[in-house]
Amino acid sequence: MNHTLEVSPISRPVLVPPGGQNKVLLHSCCAPCSGEVMEALLASGIDYTIYFYNPNIHPLKEYLLRKEENMRFADKFGIPFIDKDDDYENDRKEWFEKAKGMEFEPERGIRCTMCFDMRFEKAAQYAHENGFPVFTSSLGISRWKNMNQINDSGRRAAEQYPGLVYWDFNWRKGGGSARMIEISKREHFYQQEYCGCAYSLRDSNAHRKSQGRPPIKIGVKYYGDEEEQA
Ligand code: SF4
Repeated sequence: MNHTLEVSPISRPVLVPPGGQNKVLLHSCCAPCSGEVMEALLASGIDYTIYFYNPNIHPLKEYLLRKEENMRFADKFGIPFIDKDDDYENDRKEWFEKAKGMEFEPERGIRCTMCFDMRFEKAAQYAHENGFPVFTSSLGISRWKNMNQINDSGRRAAEQYPGLVYWDFNWRKGGGSARMIEISKREHFYQQEYCGCAYSLRDSNAHRKSQGRPPIKIGVKYYGDEEEQA
């Protein structure tokens, strides 16, 4: 791996993946959530690959923005990036099919469990087929998410393959949540304003409307912009 670029100059405890393994598959949902996770893994010298599989993200413009931002940051450090969207249209259809009947479930409810399961099942399969003994995810670093719900999905996916372990490390702790924001501002990452699916976009817009705010405009908000304007 090319680690010539420095990660954030802070002291961190050395992380050791489960079983003392040093090869990890990181399921990533977006650059802001994975930025701190990526730097923490790099700082501990862990050999990892990013796996981007998120057919929940809607619409296509938002999906591409999130993915390309994540690829840009991975390139900076020479981190391998698996872009799992060779069957994007069918995967999207499958996601909507699985979400049927759950369109009006709240965030952190059963639709989200389905959404985590679908993404982690694919990540676990890739890990199994490509010699990764451990996989983890950036999803839990967001304070909007239920970490237990995510970890349960991760463990369920790993259980399908003998020897595969889901690493349920709490990426928020030890200042991880604050560094997630710092890195996002430093890198001027695209700032998504809803979780990702069509239903979270609808619900976020309804909430904004109730507050007299305009609907979300995709592709306009970047971390750090507000401070520059202030
Ligand atoms: S709100 Fe987020 S986690 Fe829940 S179903 Fe939608 S995209 Fe998936």
